Amino acid sequence: MSGASSCLDESDPNALTVEQALERILAESAPVSGIETLGIAEALDRVLAQSVAARIDVPPARNSAMDGYGLRSGEGRAGNVLRVVGVSAAGHPWDGTVGPGECVRILTGAVVPDDVDAVVVQERVSVNGGGQVTLEADVPPGANIRGRGEDTRAGTVILDAGRRLTAADIGLLASQGIGEVAVVRRPRVAFFTTGDELVPIGQPLGPGQIHDSNRYTLAALLKRYPVEFVDLGVIADTEDAVRSALTQAGATADLILTTGGVSVGDADYVSRLLQQEGQVGFWKVAMKPGRPLAFGRFGSALFLGLPGNPVSAMATFSLFVRPALLRLSGTEATPPWTLRARLQEDLRKAPGRVDFQRGILEQCDGGWVVRSTGGQGSHQLRSMSLANAYIRLPAESSGARAGEDVDVIPFQSVF
Ligand code: AMP
Ligand code: MG
Repeated sequence: MSGASSCLDESDPNALTVEQALERILAESAPVSGIETLGIAEALDRVLAQSVAARIDVPPARNSAMDGYGLRSGEGRAGNVLRVVGVSAAGHPWDGTVGPGECVRILTGAVVPDDVDAVVVQERVSVNGGGQVTLEADVPPGANIRGRGEDTRAGTVILDAGRRLTAADIGLLASQGIGEVAVVRRPRVAFFTTGDELVPIGQPLGPGQIHDSNRYTLAALLKRYPVEFVDLGVIADTEDAVRSALTQAGATADLILTTGGVSVGDADYVSRLLQQEGQVGFWKVAMKPGRPLAFGRFGSALFLGLPGNPVSAMATFSLFVRPALLRLSGTEATPPWTLRARLQEDLRKAPGRVDFQRGILEQCDGGWVVRSTGGQGSHQLRSMSLANAYIRLPAESSGARAGEDVDVIPFQSVF
């Protein structure tokens, strides 16, 4: 940013705040209907359509947390000598009795015999000849025993409807012997990019042409979400081409995403067609990058038209498309995590719009520090590639100084 432009106030009374724009988008985004049953191995990142209750107690039986000896706690005094009468190993329970003066060798995960109510770890006994052990310390009742149902009790809800399944959830289901779950159908997303200057990869660039990067970025971003997507290609800036892409998308998709052609004064047909044949509003959002955004419906689909500049397209994806996609998928996006980090250099901005500058966040001496990725133009995709976080500078601010604490949003929470 040049020194001169950083002095200009960029506030616009007609612009929506990021929060207002998101609220309006979410108000129109309803979860899709349709449920499918999936094996849990296929269900990672999918959204549960129904809550799941535990079928069994886990652990199903009392078992040992350590390798050692199981005994009657009344006999767990230092110096006591106990006779080893058997072995209980994981998967091979001891089915004999453990009487007074006796103990059982027990291994981690092995069922604790009924007579036993304490386990002494093997490091706390000395093994005598003749199958006897001497306790080296007192053993409190219940020591090293995992109770039945201590993890989950049969009948309790372990996962709620609307939950997006994590690796731990998949394991939890498996621990219950639950092999299939009902999940929400994946919303269908159709997307295309617009612009006569855009050339797909594999074709040389002619005069005035650039490679279409947004379509590849969008596909890569969408892969992380529980959605099905269709890439409708690069659409030329002609009325017929745009109409046919919108019509196709509007008939089959739950959500249409486009990039480009949403600024005022564009030689573009997206906005014109959407206004004539759909229901779409063109918004200015008081953020940088990414001010122009189109939102509405076309056919039976929700429509989100992102700016053409690659950084703006990604920024609006992270702040608006992500929450909408997750809502359509039957779940909710967690709000962006904001943490405070010590700024390592001066940053300038014009007052009037909240700025999402691209930063590199690192841990340093137990705290967080952040620095800029450099050039912050909305065409400079490398700023996104280098970054792992946004530095969020409030609308009214005109920058921040090295050494100040600033708000930082790690990309993990928004992509
Ligand atoms: P527009 O929003 O269509 O006016 O485009 C704004 C800027 O983003 C222009 O410099 C375009 O050339 C560029 N642009 C638009 N679409 C893409 C795309 N798919 N990939 C890379 N750059 C794009
Ligand atoms: Mg364009």
